Amino acid sequence: MKILFTASECVPFCKTGGLADVVGALAPVLAKKGHDVRVMLPLYSMIPHDYVAQMKHVIDFEVELGWRKQYCGIEALEKDGVTWYFVDNKYYFGRSYIYGMGGDEYERYGFFDRACLNALPLLDFAPDILHAHDWQAGMIPALLKIQYQHLPFYSNIKTVFTIHNLQYQGIFGIPEVQDVLGLGDSLFTDDKLECYGCANFMKAALVYSDEITTVSPSYAEEIQTAYYGERMDGLLRARKESLSGVLNGIDIGEYNPAGDPLIPAVYTSDDMSGKAVCKEELQKELGLEVRADVPIISLITRLSNQKGLDLIDRVIGEIMAEDVQLVVLGMGDARYVNLFSWAEQHYQGRVAARFRMDGALAHRIYAGSDIFLMPSQFEPCGLSQMIALRYGTLPVVRETGGLRDTVLSYNEANNAGNGFTFFNYNAHDMLFTLRRALYFYNSNKAVWKMLQKRGMEGDYSWDHSAETYLSLYQHMLRQQEQEAPKAKKPRAPRKPKVDVVVDVAAEEKPKKPRAPRKKKAETAE
Ligand code: ADP
Repeated sequence: MKILFTASECVPFCKTGGLADVVGALAPVLAKKGHDVRVMLPLYSMIPHDYVAQMKHVIDFEVELGWRKQYCGIEALEKDGVTWYFVDNKYYFGRSYIYGMGGDEYERYGFFDRACLNALPLLDFAPDILHAHDWQAGMIPALLKIQYQHLPFYSNIKTVFTIHNLQYQGIFGIPEVQDVLGLGDSLFTDDKLECYGCANFMKAALVYSDEITTVSPSYAEEIQTAYYGERMDGLLRARKESLSGVLNGIDIGEYNPAGDPLIPAVYTSDDMSGKAVCKEELQKELGLEVRADVPIISLITRLSNQKGLDLIDRVIGEIMAEDVQLVVLGMGDARYVNLFSWAEQHYQGRVAARFRMDGALAHRIYAGSDIFLMPSQFEPCGLSQMIALRYGTLPVVRETGGLRDTVLSYNEANNAGNGFTFFNYNAHDMLFTLRRALYFYNSNKAVWKMLQKRGMEGDYSWDHSAETYLSLYQHMLRQQEQEAPKAKKPRAPRKPKVDVVVDVAAEEKPKKPRAPRKKKAETAE
């Protein structure tokens, strides 16, 4: 299969969260299974120079965005069996940040989405599956259906959209988005692109993608409810036949306590002595009291309300009344920076907080701590709890989304489980669960060690998830063949003279008869 990923971040090039881990790990796994996998990313200025130096200029062209004509270069890099394309425009991506500060996100990612589609014929690459990730790539499936799919080159491309976090939707004014993307008024109705009076990149993808996935089975169910649905639950219920949850994996090569070059001492589930060294070194590094017997509770997270930090705020006094140390690595909202800065001052030698992105320190914390606390209000998948398990650091998590699918609470009756969980979004439920974990840490070492071993030996690889994605892709292609054998147009010749100038008027043309689709495919929320 020819598979194209489009995303706004990806390791090892640029990362703010789990999206980058997923794209960076999944693409090579799919390529390894024999598929032609390519990824399109923005060429941000913070991409390390080493990678930029390896890139080759492939093509350049102009992208029309309303009245603007913007330069677009496509640079390419081959790595891990994948072709990584970088969309180059210094005005949009040559900035000191990835997201959120210029007030023109709709234009930056509108440009990116348009550029991805326009580049394909020039690259002579018509993917079977175009897999777009999160709202920044959300207009791609919509633009493809509305403005491109009548062109032979694009007519066989099937789209998958993955929701990595429904909270971030890319909501902008309708006139601004129309101005950039040339979308007519008739498209801004509630069954298409309009969303509570605004334009919404995520909604565009949810309406127009052939299939929608999200990153855990539980989250796929939860987002169809009002509590978790972020005002998209109606639309997601209407599209539930095309919605599925595929659990993320982690890069087990990068997160490997038995061979991790970033930690002071390596260890395995059979010989944990290296973990004690990691703990001692972490305590020294962060200015904590050096004590082997005190449990270290860690958090490595975006400092956002999603992550349940309000629960910690509510009971931090009770947590610190236990004989514990607390380590926090995160960036984000000022109120949580204030909370943990205060705690560091107040509980000197027992709390350490670092407010920066620091991948190497993250490895040292996963390895050196004992308990990983993740009481998220919602969690699409969560990678950190799986990384923690792999390092023998037992997770204490709330039963939501992917946390529910990856952490099973220890059950003394049948000895099942790999961590400790609670259900209600309640600070004292979290506190009691933390105390339960502390009880086993302090008073029942045999159970603790057994859980550590089980956690470290769990399978968090991408293999299973990659197979699930491939089955989905194959199912879509089979369906396409079955549904529309006659309507299927021949592929474009290898060097097509495809007009990539968007036929904006196409959206107003009468629709061609098309194969029957799955029910309610374009139903309004
Ligand atoms: P989300 O995608 O919601 O931020 P995930 O748990 O899915 O949460 O992924 C977070 C990833 O980012 C993990 O790999 C985690 O270790 C990493 N991470 C989060 N904050 C930091 C930080 N300040 N420094 C280094 N890595 C971080």
